[in-house]
Amino acid sequence: MKANISSIVLKFGGSSLSCAEQFKKAADIIHADSARRYIVVSAPGKRDDADVKITDMLYACYDRAVNGGDFSELLGQIRERFAGIACELDIDFDIHGELETIRRHLLGKPSREYMASRGEYLSARLMSAYLGFRFIDAARCIIFRPDGVLDKDATYVAIARVMRGVDHAVVPGFYGAQTDGTVRTFSRGGSDVTGAILARGMDADLYENWTDVSGMMTADPRVVDNPKPIDYISYTELRELAYMGASVLHEDAVFPARNAGIPINIRNTNRPDDPGTVITQDIPAGALRPVTGIAGCRGFSSILIEKTMMNAEIGFGRKVLQVLEDHGLSFEHLPSGIDTMSVLLDTAALSSCREQVLESIRAAVSPDTLCVEDGLAIIAVVGRGMVCTKGTAARIISAVANADVNIRMLDQGSSELNIILGVAECDYETTIRAIYNEFN
Ligand code: ASP
Repeated sequence: MKANISSIVLKFGGSSLSCAEQFKKAADIIHADSARRYIVVSAPGKRDDADVKITDMLYACYDRAVNGGDFSELLGQIRERFAGIACELDIDFDIHGELETIRRHLLGKPSREYMASRGEYLSARLMSAYLGFRFIDAARCIIFRPDGVLDKDATYVAIARVMRGVDHAVVPGFYGAQTDGTVRTFSRGGSDVTGAILARGMDADLYENWTDVSGMMTADPRVVDNPKPIDYISYTELRELAYMGASVLHEDAVFPARNAGIPINIRNTNRPDDPGTVITQDIPAGALRPVTGIAGCRGFSSILIEKTMMNAEIGFGRKVLQVLEDHGLSFEHLPSGIDTMSVLLDTAALSSCREQVLESIRAAVSPDTLCVEDGLAIIAVVGRGMVCTKGTAARIISAVANADVNIRMLDQGSSELNIILGVAECDYETTIRAIYNEFN
């Protein structure tokens, strides 16, 4: 990270803004560093497990309105949530006027995306009034094409124009607009993306993403008790772990920051002193580890193909992969031997066309043996430091063997960024715990 940080974009997620107390915590965090100047907010999230996110309430309002149902009680609950926050923060804000505009919108020809966007809009209005920072409507600077895809070029031009001379601002996350003013939203969790785009558009030194966990964990806390947080992770490692389901950030939030070389720091609003996880291109030398994180997924199948002299048959692999392509299937891993080839793929995706795929492989390559094994889990052990550490694979394999687990598949690419293991689904948790304990 840069030594001199003068401009930080912060994004606060829904759990960080679920009530007035959380707004106050966010404001304390912002005031603690004068570089924290551009704030992106989510809509208020759940206050407890039984609660409902504002965004979900807005979607429900829309559904009722288009089905001719009565949405007034639901809209009243939304008004009370925001009015309660405004009252406790002691800010002067016309929440009733804003809700009246939304009510009138619902009585006309409502737009689902416009409705969903109102949570972030109102949240930003409140935060801007509370902080005394300028409110900048995302509809003015996050530009979507009519097909709903972000227009990156137009967005960065708009950010430069709208934000010129603005040194402190609150911007609602999750939505933007087409040039004709039609409001569009990103997919769920999209405020992360707004934060990353704003960080890039403002050429910020850092993008802080404030949430309710102290960063990414080295393993899934549902599998490993109190896993250690990851202090530094590279974008490539993050992508590997996120692909396996371990993520604290919307996938599309990584690219704008990565392309601009802006580090992302995942922080915990409820524990602001925790350093969290820094996602960056280059990990500081002292923080490079053989294993940064472990993640995995259940629900894989392996198609095993055997044929004598397979290795001499040029085009064999291509023909098999062509069958998968013809059926719209993407494969995960492709471990192979001299006369064997295994294709690992998602069981759910395969199930819709299983017999046809096997029949087509038979027709394409006339294998001696062709069978499918279900019930596999894949575990990725990811670490950029692996490449310069001898014995990482040995340690992983010994740890798994000592846990009495049979490894069904093992894959390490020459990039040495990760080692992938396939095990029976019933061994999934034991394997992750064994590897975690070996390296921590
Ligand atoms: N409020 C939206 C959602 O619940 C967007 C976000 O929070 O990032 O998905």
